[in-house]
Amino acid sequence: MTATTNDCIFCKIVAGDIPANIVYEDEHCIAFKDINPRADTHVLLIPRKHIASLMELQDTDKELFGHMMITLPKVAKQLGLDNGYRTIVNTGPGGGQEVYHVHFHILAGKGKLPFA
Ligand code: 5GP
Ligand code: ZN
Repeated sequence: MTATTNDCIFCKIVAGDIPANIVYEDEHCIAFKDINPRADTHVLLIPRKHIASLMELQDTDKELFGHMMITLPKVAKQLGLDNGYRTIVNTGPGGGQEVYHVHFHILAGKGKLPFA
């Protein structure tokens, strides 16, 4: 069930092998529009590194995830979400995760929130 880098759709987006509407990128992470938006704004923030889910996080990922938590509000600000937004991380089958490359959903505006 857990995708590896080779068959992971988000790794393919990181590599530029499949297109995505990228709204932010830096050395460690990228953010792009969800292909099936559940709200007016629906963006996914992902690490460039393939990590399947929060359950796979290691102590060595501390710096990366610290960076991502600091970057997320910067991306939201860039998207103009000054009134706030919802951040969701689905983890494992029980959490409704569909793509096994860890990602933060950033959602705002009208939509079906929270989604299941
Ligand atoms: P999950 O349920 O794993 O938390 O969410 C995966 C999200 O990835 C879904 O909201 C889905 O619409 C989105 N998604 C799946 N495949 C692609 C894709 O190829 N491109 C983009 N931009 N989003 C995708
Ligand atoms: Zn991946």
